[in-house]
Amino acid sequence: MTITANLQFIQQQLPKTVKLVAVSKTKSAEQLIEAYQAGQRLFGENKVQELLSKWQTLPKDIEWHFIGHLQSNKIKPIIPFITLIQGVDSFRLLAAINKEAEKIGRVVSVLLEFHIAEEDSKFGLSLPEAEEMLGSSEWKSFNHITVCGVMGMATFTSDEVIIKSEFERLSSIFVQLKEKFFRDSDHFCERSMGMSDDYLIAISAGSTLVRIGSKIFGNR
Ligand SMILES: *Cc1c(COP(=O)(O)O)cnc(C)c1O
Repeated sequence: MTITANLQFIQQQLPKTVKLVAVSKTKSAEQLIEAYQAGQRLFGENKVQELLSKWQTLPKDIEWHFIGHLQSNKIKPIIPFITLIQGVDSFRLLAAINKEAEKIGRVVSVLLEFHIAEEDSKFGLSLPEAEEMLGSSEWKSFNHITVCGVMGMATFTSDEVIIKSEFERLSSIFVQLKEKFFRDSDHFCERSMGMSDDYLIAISAGSTLVRIGSKIFGNR
């Protein structure tokens, strides 16, 4: 299967409410261009250096999402162009993004990453941690950030019951935060969940953004 055929196959499975992030980490510019020529404009990367070099060389109408774990000291160069930083999981990182965005007069969109998997190796906030952060007065002073929703990764397992219940938990976290903190924000609408092996389950649990890599570009 070609990249074009893979994209077409996936696109026709997605409801209109779900956007596809083509996760292009480790893949070459040529491979991204094939996806671009097939109409894909939204790509996800998880390393700052790799993202920067792709952003510099590839067409400027590509929207880039940062999908990995981001260190506060590495954010500066991506702030001018990044469309969405998925996976903000600490107050410190949020503060650093706000500060860099303020310097250049930009408002940067982010998702809050939640720990929903059984594995403890995965990054992410708990619901009480997020509530504490969003209730704080410092948070209210962050004028250069828009929180657009939540993101999470399910346990790496073939047990679909576990995966589904974890995605449903993320959806429920979304609803609780929406009611408590974002009732008046139209921006807070995204649930980023679902990868190559579990995106159909994620969609059935309310995903609005799927992040798919290997099913488009082949194994890494
Ligand atoms: C790599 C990655 C993906 C895509 O994984 P695939 O299994 O290749 O679809 C999605 N989300 C995050 C955060 C990733 O790091």
